[in-house]
Amino acid sequence: MRIPHLIDGRAVEGRDYFETLDPANQQVLAEVAAGGEAEIHAAVAAAKAAFPKWAATPAAERAKMMHKLGELITKHVAEISTLETRDTGQTISQTGKQLVPRAADNFHYFAEMCTRVDGHTYPTPTHLNYTLFHPVGVCALISPWNVPFMTGTWKIAPCLAFGNTAVLKMSELSPLSISRFGQLATEAGLPKGVLNIVHGTGREAGEPLCAHPDVRAISFTGSTATGQRIVKSAGLKKFSMELGGKSPFVVFDDADFERALDAAVFMIFSNNGERCTAGSRILVQKSLYPRFVERFAERAARIAVGDPMDDQTIIGPMISPQHLAKVRSYIEMGPQEGATLLTGGLDAPALPAALARGNFVRPTVFADVSNSMRIAQEEIFGPVACLIPFTDEADAIAQANDIQYGLSSYVWSQDIGRAHRVAAAIEAGMCFV
Ligand code: NAD
Repeated sequence: MRIPHLIDGRAVEGRDYFETLDPANQQVLAEVAAGGEAEIHAAVAAAKAAFPKWAATPAAERAKMMHKLGELITKHVAEISTLETRDTGQTISQTGKQLVPRAADNFHYFAEMCTRVDGHTYPTPTHLNYTLFHPVGVCALISPWNVPFMTGTWKIAPCLAFGNTAVLKMSELSPLSISRFGQLATEAGLPKGVLNIVHGTGREAGEPLCAHPDVRAISFTGSTATGQRIVKSAGLKKFSMELGGKSPFVVFDDADFERALDAAVFMIFSNNGERCTAGSRILVQKSLYPRFVERFAERAARIAVGDPMDDQTIIGPMISPQHLAKVRSYIEMGPQEGATLLTGGLDAPALPAALARGNFVRPTVFADVSNSMRIAQEEIFGPVACLIPFTDEADAIAQANDIQYGLSSYVWSQDIGRAHRVAAAIEAGMCFV
């Protein structure tokens, strides 16, 4: 299979191609067009040319197209989720039941929102000041590899619904599912140039896209390091940056034990642990700590690792051998830093021969972790849980905030006053109570 770019409504062959591999067995899934400056220029020019007409299209018309795209996703869930699972190693139960169906909602939601744009008024005795919202123009949309269909559509839907046009660059590690969406959108009659997709690496395609003078806004999801690089080098543009995380999952001793345990297991091991919002620092009150740690490790040891296309599998392969090596390096580091390995570790999981070359790792649990250890401070982005004890509310808040990240957080307590106090005190963009 060969995957072209989508530029100005046409499938554009690559001057060169790279391979995308199945992480469960290293087999080549497709050859993907490798774009660079020339393709980026063509795509931005197409998006710029399409912008005036698309921006002037009545919101109700754009909304109709957004609903149509959402319906198309719903119709093709099985096909898209299979592509995504084979390209990323994310399990079919996640892509087929959650991530791809949910992506359809992105279009339906923004179809509604784009018809309800209002503004503010600031009356003074002599003037009536008011705000108007306009589309900004050509937007660069850049996605990581971990949940590409969800992330890609999360960007495309609001961008297009509000009258902007887009050049999208998916991660070179997982371009397949969104490429299929590009074909479906074209067949559905999305005007040419409104959505362009250029494939390629960050350096060859991402950098020229972000630096392009006709790009007015950048919506980037990916690592904190890349986000910082883009903000420094892209010049004066609007930015939306969704970056890395090392989110605290705080369990007080009055929490509903079984529900907190379930959620803790889910939040670190679902999506293979390759999840920006993973509850990867599990802070447990000391009085509860020994019991919680024991039960958590028992649960982790029973998690099914294997073929991501099997709907009983909970953890599939890591996205690439390089990423597997990174995850394994933290598993090696844990005991060296003084953490106790309770389950998992570096031994390869028992798997059938067909998966012998896959990027698999066992779900791993470390207890006696101190928040200052590197395994607690750095984003591992794999199925590795760190269980950290805390004494009281003040200690929980201090440890939760002692981190360079601030993406998500979780608080478990039946004391509603405490839950709200702690949620407000944790410095994170989201808190789930
Ligand atoms: P990454 O930063 O390596 O790459 C992300 C994207 O940026 C890719 O498409 C890549 O090709 C591109 N890129 C790389 N260098 C670039 C450059 N100089 N200019 C422009 N584009 C460039 O991240 P990744 O390894 O693909 O993804 C994992 C990271 O993404 C993790 O840190 C994770 O937490 C984060 N993430 C965050 C969210 C969120 O919503 N906050 C969601 C998913 C993933």
